[in-house]
Amino acid sequence: MSPSYVLLVHGGAGKIEALTPEQEQLRRRALRQALEAGRDILAQGGSSVDAVIAAVRVLEDCGLFNAGRGAVRNQAGFCELDAAVMEGRSRRAGAVAAVRRLRNPVDAAWAVAQYSPHVLLVSEGAEEFALRQGLELLPEPDPESGDGSIGAHPEASLGTVGAVALDASGNLAAATSTGGISGKLKGRVGDSPLIGAGTYADNRTCAVSTTGLGEVFIRTVTAFGVHARMLFGKMPLHEAAADALAEVGQLGGCGGLIAIGADSSAVALCVNADMYRGKVDQHGRFQTAIYRGEPWQES
Ligand code: ASP
Repeated sequence: MSPSYVLLVHGGAGKIEALTPEQEQLRRRALRQALEAGRDILAQGGSSVDAVIAAVRVLEDCGLFNAGRGAVRNQAGFCELDAAVMEGRSRRAGAVAAVRRLRNPVDAAWAVAQYSPHVLLVSEGAEEFALRQGLELLPEPDPESGDGSIGAHPEASLGTVGAVALDASGNLAAATSTGGISGKLKGRVGDSPLIGAGTYADNRTCAVSTTGLGEVFIRTVTAFGVHARMLFGKMPLHEAAADALAEVGQLGGCGGLIAIGADSSAVALCVNADMYRGKVDQHGRFQTAIYRGEPWQES
């Protein structure tokens, strides 16, 4: 029997409109490539944490989403990237925030968890640490061309990226990576790198990655909120996720989340938004969806 695993990815939430069929295809293909990268690890009995990092790395590198190469710029005209990774078995977590030159912030986030005594490093300190771990830096964008650098891809639009997975050993993990919101103030940090707000994993309950207006997700501690509703309120995953997102909506927020439960249940939900999303399970079914209310499509 093939090992039992599930992987979900997202490419951000917001009002997604006026995509040409080609643009839609490109994004569905990118979601599928991210799923394949994670699936390759999970199908060989690899860990959920390695799978979510591999999936997010693909989305950071593709330049179509607001993360890695595709990151949006702040009011000062440059990118400040945030990312986090959390493992549900040990509840180890690592994150970086306001980094400007790291090619793959998700790798730096996990390096913080593995090789430092800390959970969150920011700005130059995070970059220096990542360099010492042998991670790759990219040049900052040239405002004229920006070629080959962060924030340079012409197809970039909205879309934080994230992944959640359950591996064959029953371990959950979550990862999120973003350029934040466009036009943000220099130094602004969103929910994505904050453990409990945008990213959370605990083997007792679920793994969660969020996307949307980060300020509201921070104020409602959304990812931890899904976990807490399951652990203390005994809610099933779907109800817990819907309730946590309803709270975001009540405060005027918009966005979405992907989550997987310890029982392998999986949800991708959004409030006042569409959301790029994709799913693969041990049967090798690849599915994607983009618009709100859209059923999963084989991809
Ligand atoms: N949640 C991210 C932030 O506020 C943005 C997004 O998901 O689009 O930084």
